[in-house]
Amino acid sequence: MAEDDEKPVFFFDIDNCLYSKSLDIHRMMAELIDKFFEDHLSLSREDANELHYRYYREYGLAIEGLVRHHKVDALEYNSKVDDALPLENVIKPNPELRQLIQDIDTSKVRLWLFTNAYITHGKRVVKLLQIDDLFEGITFCDYSSDKFFCKPHAEMYDKAMQEAGIKSNEKCYFVDDSYINCKAADARGWKTAHLLDPADPEPTQQASRYQIRGLMDLRNIFPEVFKDPSSA
Ligand SMILES: [Mg+2]
Repeated sequence: MAEDDEKPVFFFDIDNCLYSKSLDIHRMMAELIDKFFEDHLSLSREDANELHYRYYREYGLAIEGLVRHHKVDALEYNSKVDDALPLENVIKPNPELRQLIQDIDTSKVRLWLFTNAYITHGKRVVKLLQIDDLFEGITFCDYSSDKFFCKPHAEMYDKAMQEAGIKSNEKCYFVDDSYINCKAADARGWKTAHLLDPADPEPTQQASRYQIRGLMDLRNIFPEVFKDPSSA
């Protein structure tokens, strides 16, 4: 297909984006990650926590540092951390979110999930939210591969575009709660919305052209991808 004819793709991050950061899942996850570092690297809780955040800052994902420097099995990590989270107690179906996504006109834009988590976790979250049927596909961080990439590395955005079947950066929409992920997407020309929680402090410099305080604001910043209200 010629690039001119390509239908735009809207990429959605999953964690702390499709569900609220206030659910505190990142804290539950951080505790399991610390525990994993502690058990596998024989570290004190304090050293485990420090290393976890150093890898998170350096690589965007704690697991990338573990695999690079400690030959940790990423799939074992996934089963002890992401897949071990008691999400069923926390993530509930969200009709408002479902309506928002359903109001996007799929004759104008295609919907694609784009996560740094492994496929098992990504699918589990969207299923619990009861929005799993609304997306055409998902690009995830492939922990089973010898060399895997995650956002904000360029290879990961390339992978998402390839899997979603789109060539033009200018036709990619994106929403993510991560500052560095949004900055990288914005730099390559994606129409990027950085999602901040209402309680988050204002960044000194915006990560991307658009910054929103709730997913519902997508209607205001990207009206061109939504169904025409007059024809509803
Ligand atoms: Mg996120």
